[in-house]
Amino acid sequence: MDEHIAVVGASLAGLRTVQGLRRKGSAARITLVGDEPALPYDRPPLSKAILLGTAEISSLEFVDADALATLGVDLRLGVRAVSLDLDRREVGLADGSVLGFDRLVVATGSSPRRVPGLRPLPGVHVLRTAADAACIRTGLLAARRVAVVGGGFIGAEIASAARQLGVDVTIIDTLPTLMTRGLGPELGARMTRLHRRNGVELRLDSAVTDVVGDERVTGVALAGGSVVDADLVVVGVGTAPNVDWLRGCGLALDDGVICDEYLRAADGVYAVGDVARWHNPRYRSAMRMEHWTSAGEQATALAGTLTGTPTPCAVLPYVWSDQYGRRLQIFGRIGPGDEIEVVHEEGDRFVALARRDGRLEGAVGYDALTRVLPYRMQLANG
Ligand code: FAD
Repeated sequence: MDEHIAVVGASLAGLRTVQGLRRKGSAARITLVGDEPALPYDRPPLSKAILLGTAEISSLEFVDADALATLGVDLRLGVRAVSLDLDRREVGLADGSVLGFDRLVVATGSSPRRVPGLRPLPGVHVLRTAADAACIRTGLLAARRVAVVGGGFIGAEIASAARQLGVDVTIIDTLPTLMTRGLGPELGARMTRLHRRNGVELRLDSAVTDVVGDERVTGVALAGGSVVDADLVVVGVGTAPNVDWLRGCGLALDDGVICDEYLRAADGVYAVGDVARWHNPRYRSAMRMEHWTSAGEQATALAGTLTGTPTPCAVLPYVWSDQYGRRLQIFGRIGPGDEIEVVHEEGDRFVALARRDGRLEGAVGYDALTRVLPYRMQLANG
């Protein structure tokens, strides 16, 4: 009988794994399970074109039903995996059914972290799904003042979209600069100035303690007692891997599913995408990435491993972010103590390099694709 591969999580990493399997000639029976009702769709435009109204959610599907049918996949959408029994090799689903498997791919991604104590009043949102984006877009069209809690990539993109739509925005962050975790303090300060120049109000070094309002949000309260007025609040304070359904099953979990360099978590069980904390041979250390390109590269490597060509998954981190109509690109890693050198500057555009002990670790470009790409090559070549 044909082998049965179950893939749990029907988004970028899950779908790309399935496509990779078929491309490499796998004849396995494949079941793809996802808790969202929609066909797999692309998330990056949710905080960009969808908020700006320059694309429709219906245009984000990676594949249509016909293309999925040609992959010969048993698609189970709108149903959540709730448990895993490694001994019986079964996934329990929320509808009470049980899915047996020979090999399992965990591709359940990540979800927005919550701020403890923030009441879920109408007008308070997070941004992860197409439904979230649709609500925030509607809210932005009616809003006069938006408060964005968290000045990371998602928060910065939401603020940029709101400003482009002419809405007043305040970003609140506990750190002194924006995007500090991805860019470090020096380049974070540069992006902070960019947002200021574009009219964003900033409440930095500030913690949100609660939302204000009875039936609907009217603002956010900050530690120290001040209030930022807002008729729309979007919370973007990072994400956590979706591993709750795996707790107690025997897999090692620690901010993700712990995997080796082949993305293997246990005998015949693998993890891929945002949910995987794997040993990245490029850095000889374990890491979890929440980047679109990494999810695809992991899926390709995993498809190789699952079809008999064990493929170590070495990934050079890459993430982009669109702000004020221009693209920020980050290749490699930027650590807190890295030496930063700005090698090109022209108005808002820049290219900066991050070095540790004299060695190139990261390259960042804002609106500078052709100038930053050569450094990507250097990083890729080690
Ligand atoms: P996900 O896309 O999170 O998919 C996981 C899927 O599994 C989801 O459909 C989830 O509902 C489902 N699931 C979860 N638990 C279960 C369960 N128990 N049972 C069944 N199904 C389950 N990256 C970039 O590099 N550049 C960008 O500009 C960028 N912009 C982004 C903008 C937004 C708004 C968001 C949300 C993300 C952005 N990203 C960006 C990150 C990128 O989209 C993710 O890295 C990518 O989606 C990861 O894919 P994934 O398949 O691992 O996880």
